[in-house]
Amino acid sequence: MRVNVNAQRCVGAGQCVLIAPEVFDQSDEGTVMVLVESLEDPAQALAREAVRACPSGSISLAES
Ligand code: SF4
Repeated sequence: MRVNVNAQRCVGAGQCVLIAPEVFDQSDEGTVMVLVESLEDPAQALAREAVRACPSGSISLAES
């Protein structure tokens, strides 16, 4: 599974980093960055949770 983010849409709320700190980080400006683009379990489950929690719809997942 691959994770994609839209940093221009990100509002810097940080939920993704709290839920999956091994997958997401925030830049100095506060916008989302992806640390690992290809996910295995259990990171996949956390990434799905981050998609649900993100208030701006900035995170998407795709089967690789
Ligand atoms: S949860 Fe969404 S809005 Fe918040 S930092 Fe992550 S990608 Fe950005």
